[in-house]
Amino acid sequence: MLKIENLSVAVQGRQILHDINLHIKPGEVHVLFGPNGTGKSTLIGTIMGFERYEVLSGKIYFKGHDITEAPCYERARLGVGVMIQRPPTIRGLSLRHMIEICGATPQETEQMARWMGLADFLDRSVNEGFSGGELKRSELLQLMAQKPDLLLLDEPESGVDVENIALVGRAANYILHNEPCGGTGCDKPCCAHNLDCDTYNPLSSQRSGLIITHVGHILKYVPASHAHILYQGTLSCTSGDPLDVLSCISKTGYEKCVNGGCRRG
Ligand code: ADP
Ligand code: MG
Ligand code: MG
Repeated sequence: MLKIENLSVAVQGRQILHDINLHIKPGEVHVLFGPNGTGKSTLIGTIMGFERYEVLSGKIYFKGHDITEAPCYERARLGVGVMIQRPPTIRGLSLRHMIEICGATPQETEQMARWMGLADFLDRSVNEGFSGGELKRSELLQLMAQKPDLLLLDEPESGVDVENIALVGRAANYILHNEPCGGTGCDKPCCAHNLDCDTYNPLSSQRSGLIITHVGHILKYVPASHAHILYQGTLSCTSGDPLDVLSCISKTGYEKCVNGGCRRG
């Protein structure tokens, strides 16, 4: 799905990412950990093709296409979708119109907005005056309409309360697995969206994800298979169960986990 080879990136003339290699196969969800300012958002922004990120060297392939130089809208059309940390307000463009531009029919727009608790927001300007949780739900609603094959989430839990995190997690799962959103119950991902836990196979989807998280709450709802630590602009830990890696980080800090803890095979 996504293959990054020897990628180095600068922002405003300063190199932030050094020689990154990352391979996300269809159906895989990877988690990216790392301290503040280490370049996590830079990596996601570079995959999406935001212009402020300057690729110094290396390649990005998406579904086999070399997208290293492709403009952002082309990547979106190919199936890359992103939820950024601080989404902008778009005054004068209604959320409803935006969702329809993203690809939903009017009926789908109504239904998905209800799922996301945003039915009353459809005729407001995109993100105008939205609270932290509402912002994230609005972004996810747009992504639900876009149906990307690669879902990039930059700190989806930040500024979001516990109930909204459940909603955010279920919505991410809906995008990844096309499963109905909704339902409360046990903490297992299967139950979180009303599925039979015995037959639930999170890897049945061919869609992929890359999720940046500090706290890991989202992992309760979105099963992830791989974890990485981005430390000082270098991707250091290239495999491991995300929850093991997170507990290593919580116990001993990023540096020790990079140097030992989570490194395997
Ligand atoms: P993270 O997401 O891991 O917290 P970022 O990728 O946001 O880190 O930032 C990495 C580094 O790049 C930081 O030192 C940040 O200040 C710098 N940076 C990011 N965006 C810009 C920008 N537009 N102009 C200047 N520096 C930037
Ligand atoms: Mg940060
Ligand atoms: Mg960031």
